[in-house]
Amino acid sequence: MFRQTTPDTQSYPVTERNRVKRLHERGSYDRAAVHAILDASLLCHVAYVIDGQPYCTPTIFWREGEMLYWHGSSASRMLRHLKQGTPASLTVSHLDGLVLARAGFNHSANYRSAMCFGVARIIDDPQEKAEAIRGVVDRFYPGRSSTLRPVTTQEVKATTVIGMHIDEASAKVRAKGVGDNEEDYGHPVWAGVIPVRTIVGEPQVCPRLVDGVAPPDLFSLYQPGETLDQALSEAQSIYEREATA
Ligand SMILES: Cc1cc2nc3c(=O)[nH]c(=O)nc-3n(C[C@H](O)[C@H](O)[C@H](O)COP(=O)(O)OP(=O)(O)OC[C@H]3O[C@@H](n4cnc5c(N)ncnc54)[C@H](O)[C@@H]3O)c2cc1C
Repeated sequence: MFRQTTPDTQSYPVTERNRVKRLHERGSYDRAAVHAILDASLLCHVAYVIDGQPYCTPTIFWREGEMLYWHGSSASRMLRHLKQGTPASLTVSHLDGLVLARAGFNHSANYRSAMCFGVARIIDDPQEKAEAIRGVVDRFYPGRSSTLRPVTTQEVKATTVIGMHIDEASAKVRAKGVGDNEEDYGHPVWAGVIPVRTIVGEPQVCPRLVDGVAPPDLFSLYQPGETLDQALSEAQSIYEREATA
């Protein structure tokens, strides 16, 4: 089941924590803008502090409404700490282009990024946990969990699921060309943007595949040559549609 929460407003509240100060014109607090950046990714970085030491951990995450989920081994130090519920920040960033200017100072990058703030907690409720374990498969590969060998009780026990409600969030986007100083445009050196994309490749079939097994329908989402962020965004839309149908 998709845990859809219905927010009262189109935008996240703006506080001292999430207000974009530097180049604020690139910032947005629009929920749809933040969700679009999150949904185009599988990878995030979760930041938290343990005993005064900051950690920033890369991991897979998924979104259900205003909830973000990620999981890992119960043994990990990070999750043990988070069991108590701890303030956390989850960030996603996409690199879209390399911006080469006429001065080193004006070199830049095109990007889309989102930062989400909340309190990360262990998901103890058995039903929410079971749904989240299915969610991590079905969010990326809609409908796949029902085709798999069923999850065992031991696997559920060995998995810790962390959930964080997005209390505040911000998006920041740079999507433009070179921004040189006016007096530098006459300088005779190449300047421009080199676009960057993560592209889906040809599937590499497992050599131990049972004879006669057909390729899954979801290959239509992950077409070779397609951009990964497009495929992931489409997968999220299908997941939401199927879960709320
Ligand atoms: C690929 C990439 C390359 C970048 N290169 C540079 C660079 O070379 N130099 C540089 O100064 N900055 C760069 N940035 C932007 C950088 O992420 C910060 O926005 C910037 O450094 C300002 O940080 P700050 O903490 O001073 O921002 P502040 O404006 O003080 O941050 C306040 C709040 O604004 C929001 N916020 C800030 N940055 C972001 C963000 N990126 N995405 C979403 N919300 C945000 C958060 O809620 C944050 O708590 C890059 C970003 C990306 C994704």
